[in-house]
Amino acid sequence: EIYAEVLTIGDELLYGQILDTNTKWVSQELDDIGIKVRRKISIGDKKQEILEALDECLKRSDIVLITGGLGPTKDDITKKTLAEYFDMELALDPSALEDVEDIFKRFGKALTEINRQQAFLPEGCKKIKNERGTAPGMWFEQGRKVVVSMPGVPFEMEAMMAKTILPKLKKHYTLPVIVHKVIKTIGIGESWLAEEISSWEDALPDHLGLAYLPGKGQVRLRLTGVGESREEVETEMDQQINEVLPKIKSYVYGFGDIQIEDAVGELLKSQSLTISTAESCTGGFLAHRLTSVPGSSEYYLGSVVSYHNDIKKETLGVEEKTLEAYGAVSEETASEMAVGIRKKFKTDIGISTTGIAGPDGGTEEKPVGTVWLAISFGKNVFTRKIQLPGTRILNIEYTAIHALNFLRQ
Ligand code: ATP
Ligand code: MG
Repeated sequence: EIYAEVLTIGDELLYGQILDTNTKWVSQELDDIGIKVRRKISIGDKKQEILEALDECLKRSDIVLITGGLGPTKDDITKKTLAEYFDMELALDPSALEDVEDIFKRFGKALTEINRQQAFLPEGCKKIKNERGTAPGMWFEQGRKVVVSMPGVPFEMEAMMAKTILPKLKKHYTLPVIVHKVIKTIGIGESWLAEEISSWEDALPDHLGLAYLPGKGQVRLRLTGVGESREEVETEMDQQINEVLPKIKSYVYGFGDIQIEDAVGELLKSQSLTISTAESCTGGFLAHRLTSVPGSSEYYLGSVVSYHNDIKKETLGVEEKTLEAYGAVSEETASEMAVGIRKKFKTDIGISTTGIAGPDGGTEEKPVGTVWLAISFGKNVFTRKIQLPGTRILNIEYTAIHALNFLRQ
């Protein structure tokens, strides 16, 4: 297997002034072509740091991909430092000069001396053309090992990687295929999920790895396979997935990038059902999630945000006596809201949310995070109580996710 390290250079990265998006992008691209990223390192524009980092990276790994510090200004020292590291002299590279001149012509500006300096490259490296900026990239080889230096500006770096560096790396090394498959689950915690599938997980062959990626109310199961042909790896992974699915069937709502609202939308469409929402504590967030799906107008009619009790009564027909006897956050109120919206909007399904999002408003009997959901479907009403532990915004998000999951079931 071929290992790479991503080395990002720039004081501003360490000050926390900019988010290091280059590492994420580069790592993803490397992963796609079967190169394993072993380590990611961010350092400042300091000669000694760069030299040490290069040494370490090359000891551990085959490839070092560097971004940043190639600008024409004095604070950018990556190029000089690389020349020193590889013991090369800086010399004018005529083709790099042509590239810089071209760029300046395109912008209708005269070449400055400082930019002419950018055409000086360490003798013995290969120039990588920068289609979107003035600083050329550099490709160094040391035996089988490769060091690549790219500009820090994401837009320039990405073009350079895609057009030149990735194809060059693919030519330089014989690479395995890496395939990821993601199973999306909801309504079960990470550790319970792990228990359900532990015998399957233990029996996985070494070249298939499993990761649990928990998110809000959901866990993504990511299976990663390594092999020589994509087809072979995919077939084997699909077999494994088919084996594990029956164990966790009720929690799985889809694969890959699918969102829970997409899965709900598919389900509603496939059964030609329409839906409307009556929201109290989620304040429209459930509607937002449902309408985030392109084409949701096919099944989603609309919402009433019945935050105030008067609206629950006047618009949804919740009974005064229900509110008095049980309160707004109750199974009874949730049910009447769901029935009310279903009738008002003449949909097949009505779903409601009512709860105490916090931070205030909790009581001993109904603490912050108490939420009732109800689904009215034909003559039936299904209800569910959930108890959420979060802060206000989190509780709102979780309620929407629980409601979507409730719909799926
Ligand atoms: P140029 O030749 O265009 O000046 P450069 O190699 O000198 O490029 P830097 O000076 O290091 O690049 O960075 C230029 C800008 O690129 C930074 O101000 C920052 O906005 C962005 N940038 C640098 N490194 C990263 C990174 N790791 N992730 C995201 N953005 C970055
Ligand atoms: Mg810089």
